[in-house]
Amino acid sequence: MKIGVLALQGAFAEHVAALRAIGVEAVEVRLPEQLDDLDGLIIPGGESTTMRNLIRRWNLREPILALAERGAPLFGTCAGMIVLSRQIEGGEEPVLPLLDVTVARNAFGRQLDSFETELSVPLLGDTPVHAVFIRAPVIESVGPDVDVIARLEDGRIVAVRERNIVATSFHPELAGETRFHRLIATMAAEHADPGEGTGRRPHPTRRTRQGG
Ligand code: GLN
Repeated sequence: MKIGVLALQGAFAEHVAALRAIGVEAVEVRLPEQLDDLDGLIIPGGESTTMRNLIRRWNLREPILALAERGAPLFGTCAGMIVLSRQIEGGEEPVLPLLDVTVARNAFGRQLDSFETELSVPLLGDTPVHAVFIRAPVIESVGPDVDVIARLEDGRIVAVRERNIVATSFHPELAGETRFHRLIATMAAEHADPGEGTGRRPHPTRRTRQGG
């Protein structure tokens, strides 16, 4: 079982370290062919416009979509969440429209562009997540198949899951938080070796939407 970390730009080294800390084989991904034998992929924080451009320029879009379509888990943090969103407020073109959400970039404005908080994420257990937000996005709206897995106290959505796609507005990897990485590793292990009755449902990347 092997998980890749997209290493075009941004905070990829910390994700590689988090995966290795929990005993998972992790590789930095820069080339399309490196995606062929992965069981999961992390898209790190950084600058989403740059990352979107580099994904296209280096022909990574199709192989990443194919990986998601095979049912491998994808995990996006901060800019990675923006990169995975189907709609970006302001009309920027999506590049990997895998999450049926509308995301707003830099949603906390200048007064509060970076902060840390304890966040309840019931999916990961009772101990709150120490969440580091850096010029972070928020999810403004979600489609019917999206599970909201964390909100700020004011109700704003900061973590979601849609089948094999998980995304957070914040950076768990900068706070020594490895439970998201464990979750992705568990999903990746199921993808690598789908035993009976795992109920694996690949992401319907190219599903056609019909009617209302
Ligand atoms: N503000 C960045 C963007 O919109 C994201 C910041 C981050 O990934 N920490 O792309």
